[in-house]
Amino acid sequence: MRKKDSQDVLRKRVIIQSLIFLGIVLFFVFVALHFTFSSGLTQYVERNEFMFGTIVRLVVASEKRDPRIIMDAMVREMRRIERKFNPYVEDSIIYRINHAGGQWVEVDEETIFVLKKALYYSKKTGGAFDPVLGRLIVLWGFNDINASKHVPSDEELQAALKQSGWVKLEISGRHVRVDEGAWIDLGGIVKGYAVDQAVRMAKDMDDTTTGFVDAGGDIGIIGPKFGRYPWKIGIRDPRGGQDDIVGVIYLSNGAVATSGDYERYFEENGVRYHHILDPKTGYPARKAISVTVIGEKLVDADALSTAIFVLGWGPAIEGFEADGYQVMLIDTEGVIHETQGFEYFKKSR
Ligand code: ADP
Ligand code: MG
Repeated sequence: MRKKDSQDVLRKRVIIQSLIFLGIVLFFVFVALHFTFSSGLTQYVERNEFMFGTIVRLVVASEKRDPRIIMDAMVREMRRIERKFNPYVEDSIIYRINHAGGQWVEVDEETIFVLKKALYYSKKTGGAFDPVLGRLIVLWGFNDINASKHVPSDEELQAALKQSGWVKLEISGRHVRVDEGAWIDLGGIVKGYAVDQAVRMAKDMDDTTTGFVDAGGDIGIIGPKFGRYPWKIGIRDPRGGQDDIVGVIYLSNGAVATSGDYERYFEENGVRYHHILDPKTGYPARKAISVTVIGEKLVDADALSTAIFVLGWGPAIEGFEADGYQVMLIDTEGVIHETQGFEYFKKSR
């Protein structure tokens, strides 16, 4: 009996040891398979679409769904937003507000959200960000890539300035109005909002989706490369060629926006006239040639990059850093200024 007992114990021990061994082997096989499938075999699919007057590049991978289906939805969402907020097409909501003769117009929550954001940045930047510059933008021809562009006369500029200014825009509950003759133009913020929405859509459709959306230098990250590595993003040299950069940053999530005087401009008598206007003068802003802002959401980084382009490097920047944004500005002398925390993003980690 004793002998049988001890044999049983021995057998049990062998079985348990085998099971543990098998468990360990299975664990390693699982880990190996997991990494193979989540890295080596993950395929990024790329697509370029012309939207918001620029080439929008989508790079997307997903473990559960066909990235092409996700990209279809993202592009559809961005086109919806582009149409809805385009002040120069007749059926858009902004067109309706602009042509309501100063009357209150009832709008949806999304419109309120974007307009409130715009006004928030107008107040925060002392009017450097101004969503009611439509008249000036049209006068300069920056609303239309095909418009012939020239420097407007002083009278024309003064007239357009009188019909501009964020204080002419009012929001009350779900109602909006703008003074008669003044035009809202959300070109400095709506691309950022559209990218945020596309990123959110990609994540909602499948939480394993990774990749990014690059709307002409305004970039929203969906998730890190292969779920692990930061994306390397070049910051364009504003006086170099298409592929020249002044530096790189690494982002695993969040957003980065760049406003430059090289994106849309014309030259007259050797002077460059570009599409970011100083709301005080009506002329293109002259305190920077490129501004990059890193933040959580692109809607904020986009508005801030435009505003800081107008403000130039100065004490206000500290406030933006305290709010969680990092800024790099290249001034007209070509000198690069950076907030302290910007350095963090220059290293891959
Ligand atoms: P991009 O669209 O090239 O990325 P921005 O984000 O800086 O550049 O937006 C520029 C656009 O913002 C202009 O085309 C115009 O529609 C609008 N805009 C120009 N000046 C201002 C300003 N001071 N405040 C708000 N929006 C502006
Ligand atoms: Mg902007």
